[in-house]
Amino acid sequence: MVDKPLISEFALIEQLFAPLADNQQAAHLRDDVAIWQPLVGHDLVLSTDAMVAGVHFPDDAPADMVAARLVASNLSDLAAKGARPIGCLLTLGLALQWDMAFITGFAKTLGKKLAQSGMALWGGDTVFVPEGVGFMSMTVHGLVPQGSAVRRSGASAGEVVCVTGVIGDGFLGLQEVLAGTHGAARAAYAHPAPPIAFGPALLGHATASIDVSDGLLADLDHICVTSKVAIRLDADAIPLSSAGHNYLAQGGELTDLLTGGDDYQIAFCAHEASFPVLSAAAKAVNCQLTRIGHVENAKVENVKNHTGASVYGTNLVDAEERSMTIKKRGYQHFRK
Ligand code: ADP
Ligand code: MG
Repeated sequence: MVDKPLISEFALIEQLFAPLADNQQAAHLRDDVAIWQPLVGHDLVLSTDAMVAGVHFPDDAPADMVAARLVASNLSDLAAKGARPIGCLLTLGLALQWDMAFITGFAKTLGKKLAQSGMALWGGDTVFVPEGVGFMSMTVHGLVPQGSAVRRSGASAGEVVCVTGVIGDGFLGLQEVLAGTHGAARAAYAHPAPPIAFGPALLGHATASIDVSDGLLADLDHICVTSKVAIRLDADAIPLSSAGHNYLAQGGELTDLLTGGDDYQIAFCAHEASFPVLSAAAKAVNCQLTRIGHVENAKVENVKNHTGASVYGTNLVDAEERSMTIKKRGYQHFRK
C-alpha cells in the first residue's frame, strides 16, 4: 500500500536525483542532455541492464535492494571487460506499487553505490507506468586504454580459467530473501559487490572474460561458444562460501549453486604465465581469485544445442574426472 503518493516528475528529479548528479557533465540535470568529452587514447565501454519488479527482484523488495542490484548488475559488466566506470544514465518506470518512501530510499542507496564506485550520474528519464509493474534501467559508461578491453572471444586451449569471489551465494541469498531470513548469503543477493577494483587488472592478461550473472556454467558456455573452445571445470575447485558448503552438507546440489545466477563475479581465461600477476593484483584489492579449470580444444559431447548436435561448452568434472550431467545451465528469460 502506498503511504504517500509520488510528487511530480520534475520535483522528483530536482529533489532526489539532481543532488546525486553533482558533476559538470550532467549540469545538475537542468539541461536536456549530458555532455561528456571523449578522452584521447581510450575506448568507451557501454552496457545497459534493466530490472523488472517481480522478475529481477521480488515485487515487495525494499528500495535499497533494488538500487543496489541495479547498480551492481551494470558495474559487473564493466568490471568483466576491465573498464573503469565513469558515468551512467538511469531510466525509472515508476508504478503505483512504489511510494515516496520507496523512491527516496532508492535514491539514497543509489547515491551511496555511485560514490563507492566513482561513477557519476549523468542523466536519465522518469516515466510513470499507470498499470503493471515498475522497472528500472541503467546505462553505464566505462573507460579502457584503446583496444585493451577484454572480449568473450579470445580464449584458447591450454589457458587457465579463473573466477573472482565465491559462486552460489547469489542463489542462496535469493532463497533467504524469499524466505525472509537474514543469514550469511543474503547480502550477496541484496547488495552484490562486483569486483570493480580488480577489473582493470585483467587488461593485458585475460584473453576472454564474462561477468557471472546468469550462472557460472551458462556464462562459461558463452565464452566457449564465442571463443570456439571447451572449458573443463573442476567441481572441487569452485570457490564456495561457508553458506555454500553448508548447503552441500545439508544435501543441496552443487549444480544449484552453479546455475542459480546473481553472483556478479568475473570468470575469465588467461595464459598460465599470467596467473601469478593476476593473483597478486587480486590480493592487492582484497579480491578472492581461484583457478577453476582450463581451456580445451575438444567439443564437449554432453552439451547439445536445440538440434541435438554437440556444441562448444563447459564440461563439469568431479574429483574422479567423471563428467557431470547438468540439465538447466543458467537463468534464461522467455524460457520456463
Ligand atoms: P525529457 O523531457 O527529454 O524526457 P526530462 O525533462 O525528463 O527530459 O529530463 C530532465 C533532466 O533530468 C535531464 O537532464 C534528464 O537526463 C534528467 N533525468 C530525468 N529522469 C532522470 C532519472 N531518473 N535519473 C537521472 N536523471 C534524470
Ligand atoms: Mg522525460
